[in-house]
Amino acid sequence: MSRIYKTDFWRKMSLFDIKKILPGLFLSAMFFAACSEDSTEPEYTLYPDNDIFYSLAPNDMAANDSISANLAHGVKLVVHPNASYELSFEKDASVSDVPELQIFHLSLNSDSTAYYATKIMALQPKEVNGRYVYSFVCEEKTNAFWATSLAVDDHFYPGTTKDVKFTGDGAYSDHFSLNMIVVGKHDLTSDGVDVEELAQKTLDSFRKYYTSVTIDTIYIRYAHEHPTLGHKYPANEPWLAGADSSMDMFLYELGGWPEKDVYDALDIVYVYRIEIDKTVGYASLFSANLGGGAYSTVLVGNYVLAKDSPQKEFLLSSDEIVETVLHETGHFFGLRHTTSTMNDFLSSQDYSIIEDGLEDTPYCEALLRNGLMKRPSVKYSLSTLPVMLGHAYRRTWWKNEEQDLLSSCPDSHNFMFPATQDETFEGFSEQQLEIIRKNLMLFPHGKK
Ligand SMILES: [Zn+2]
Repeated sequence: MSRIYKTDFWRKMSLFDIKKILPGLFLSAMFFAACSEDSTEPEYTLYPDNDIFYSLAPNDMAANDSISANLAHGVKLVVHPNASYELSFEKDASVSDVPELQIFHLSLNSDSTAYYATKIMALQPKEVNGRYVYSFVCEEKTNAFWATSLAVDDHFYPGTTKDVKFTGDGAYSDHFSLNMIVVGKHDLTSDGVDVEELAQKTLDSFRKYYTSVTIDTIYIRYAHEHPTLGHKYPANEPWLAGADSSMDMFLYELGGWPEKDVYDALDIVYVYRIEIDKTVGYASLFSANLGGGAYSTVLVGNYVLAKDSPQKEFLLSSDEIVETVLHETGHFFGLRHTTSTMNDFLSSQDYSIIEDGLEDTPYCEALLRNGLMKRPSVKYSLSTLPVMLGHAYRRTWWKNEEQDLLSSCPDSHNFMFPATQDETFEGFSEQQLEIIRKNLMLFPHGKK
């Protein structure tokens, strides 16, 4: 009936409340379970036989050699309720057998240490222009992970599965709102802008640059007014996100509040400072949650930590903060950096993804060759697990030759360029805007 797999980072961090998961982190690697199979099942069920490590999110156009290498034996698919999906890859002409796609629902056990794979469908492909194409609808009630296998009778498909594409069309609206959650003490920005003005400027900028979708409004909430959590976030104390490793840096617990207003809203958590050197904002790639809880927030600071400067921090301008929110929200909706950084390689564990795969965003070969973005901004250990999927946006005080390099990059004007520098941002490309719209419509929110 179902098979059990140990959980991994991706699974643990994505759909479940982080508070429940963190205490079990250090134990999780020790838990394994044997498989159990239902011998009465009439059709052969070919369970994934690897650890289902790699994940594929819809409408991601980046190269994905690891997905291609593992599709037949098990990769995860990120799916949303009521959406229609297409999974396809190049047909291997040297293999005459046609692979059946078997799809499994993955569900966590009660202590989040393992997940169960339960087969939910088996599909035959259509052959279109030399590709095998599988179409299906997600009838889940919430966001979910599915796993794949490719079967030929009772064995794994032996052919190659090159150039895997996974696209999704959602059932939800192309509108959303912004919910700015102000945590603790803040100062005016370096150009004298207060929270209310900053919120208005954020809304105006979203409407200017997120042109493929509609932003209905922006709400402002003050964390100290939260009815049950307010006491944790006093209004007169600077909140240093990530300073307390026992707490979730993204403050997901504040997302989706108050519920009656913000089911449609992206939660922007505005803190005093993020405790990662030279990092202004943080988000997770394809966070995909407009309903509160895990992965519902993007994070931005009033100040930026600069450990090597005498004053240890810099006050940001309203432009810098708004640009950061625009960038981080791009990640939230599934946009990758135009040119990958070492953090990106480490979080995807796929060194074939050197850029976003979009035809209308150039990437910077010189930046890839140079060591500038090769330094991970965070240490990769279990205790910093929540930031493993994050993408730092650094306001760094580059040396002259570094500034020259960044300015020479053909993608330096794009909001998803991985570093801030002297060039002005011009916006998103058409293909980026299309991904934002398609993915927004996948995320459950508002009315259908
Ligand atoms: Zn980024």
